[in-house]
Amino acid sequence: IISLKHVDKHFGDFQALKDINLEVVQGEVVAILGPSGSGKSTLIRCINYLEPYDGGDIYVDRIRVQPGAELIEVRKDVGMVFQSFNLFPNMTVLDNITLGPIRVRGMSRGDAQARARELLEKVGITEQMHKYPSALSGGQQQRVGIARALANEPKVLLFDEPTSALDPEMVGEVLDVIKTLTDTGVTMLLVTHEMGFARHVADRVVFMEAGQLIEEGTPEIIFNNPTEPRTRAFLEAVL
Ligand code: ATP
Ligand code: MG
Repeated sequence: IISLKHVDKHFGDFQALKDINLEVVQGEVVAILGPSGSGKSTLIRCINYLEPYDGGDIYVDRIRVQPGAELIEVRKDVGMVFQSFNLFPNMTVLDNITLGPIRVRGMSRGDAQARARELLEKVGITEQMHKYPSALSGGQQQRVGIARALANEPKVLLFDEPTSALDPEMVGEVLDVIKTLTDTGVTMLLVTHEMGFARHVADRVVFMEAGQLIEEGTPEIIFNNPTEPRTRAFLEAVL
């Protein structure tokens, strides 16, 4: 459902992504690991064109990711959850969640609110729906972020370090929500430093370094017996 072929990305003279090839099938959960600056965020931001790429091809559900009509279609299919939540501060939780469905999907306000209530129940924060994001804990804000990403009924969810801005005691509640989503058949690409979680939920792990995808495999293989010395060194440092 996600296909990257020979993807390159430059920031000026600096090449942040080098010939990335990756195929993700529907329902697959893929964890992206790698050191800081290796290009993980850039990679997933290119998938919904938050970052333009400058070489190769990216397809989501067979639609080429490029500006114009295609991008509108792609963005309907892709939900994104950010490290820093990126909620709209001047809107209540409920409005944060209904905005997309009303604007992008043309849903009626009533239907969008009914759907938002279901999602808030799913992520366990129904009581907070009339509050503003600043009144919520980090863990609660990120659960709103996840509900918002789900509101457009995406086929693909992209997570960029969804728990790394959270206080340790809130990490678990957000990981629990993400874990429940892995059982729903939605395709997930997850950048994370939570190695235990990646190992537990991912169908496949890809390892990046210096803009390249240098190794991929099942969690068993990547965590127990990686081929690449660089993967091995990284895991030894973080585990
Ligand atoms: P981290 O684990 O710290 O989040 P990352 O793997 O997500 O790192 P990226 O954010 O994708 O890394 O950055 C990859 C490289 O591209 C880094 O060297 C970074 O400095 C550079 N880079 C990222 N965004 C920009 C930008 N907007 N302008 C210039 N360089 C950038
Ligand atoms: Mg990053």
